[in-house]
Amino acid sequence: MAKFKALLLDLDDTLIKSNLIYDRALRFSSDYLAEKYKLDKEEFFKLVLDKHLIVHRNFPTIHTRHSRILVFRMALEETVKNYDLGLLPSVEDMYWDFFMNNIELYEGICETLELIRKSKVKIAIVSDGDLSLRIRKVESAGLMKYIDQLVASEEVIFEKPFSAIFTLALTRLKVEAGSVVMLGNDYKSDVRGAQLLGIKAGVFSPLKDGNVINKDDSIKADFIIKKFGEIIDVLEIRK
Ligand SMILES: [Mg+2]
Repeated sequence: MAKFKALLLDLDDTLIKSNLIYDRALRFSSDYLAEKYKLDKEEFFKLVLDKHLIVHRNFPTIHTRHSRILVFRMALEETVKNYDLGLLPSVEDMYWDFFMNNIELYEGICETLELIRKSKVKIAIVSDGDLSLRIRKVESAGLMKYIDQLVASEEVIFEKPFSAIFTLALTRLKVEAGSVVMLGNDYKSDVRGAQLLGIKAGVFSPLKDGNVINKDDSIKADFIIKKFGEIIDVLEIRK
């Protein structure tokens, strides 16, 4: 038996080492375009990184900020006069195919989720972005069998920390905020967002490949774990 009824999990940099793979996928697609249009690979990649940052900043709070097609378009517009517009969707697909094929989980994820399921605690992934890509990521990572629900910010328009995404997760799982734990890598989105609804929320900060972001003295995490398996103790699951 466990004290809590459900665990909400962020996806990127909480379950999947996304930040690492994003960089490699961006380089892969950028090199393809540089080769095709005979551009200097390093210079073009610098430009792509620049445009990536701009897209990210131009669309705060909505999932468009994760768009990769906009990044490649902006970079090509600045470097190639007559590029093939029809190429863009396939470059975006190339990016995501690379990501899905190279997906990597943090240590201990599957064993821990298995244990949580056995103790009848429900599991939902609560992730910013569009639904289709979230599903692809979860499938590619082999996580679908462990989860009860998946909620994408696209379904509620606004990203975390806005509460709609958390509320939708609670509704779908049929649980109350007070009986739920949230784990993520982002103080502002994951911790503050969940805490605003009365959900106990903590940070996953692994020593290897961790990506804790938006740390802020005004946000106090209810717990910080360095190994994913420690979430078992937070949920007070008796082994
Ligand atoms: Mg994250």
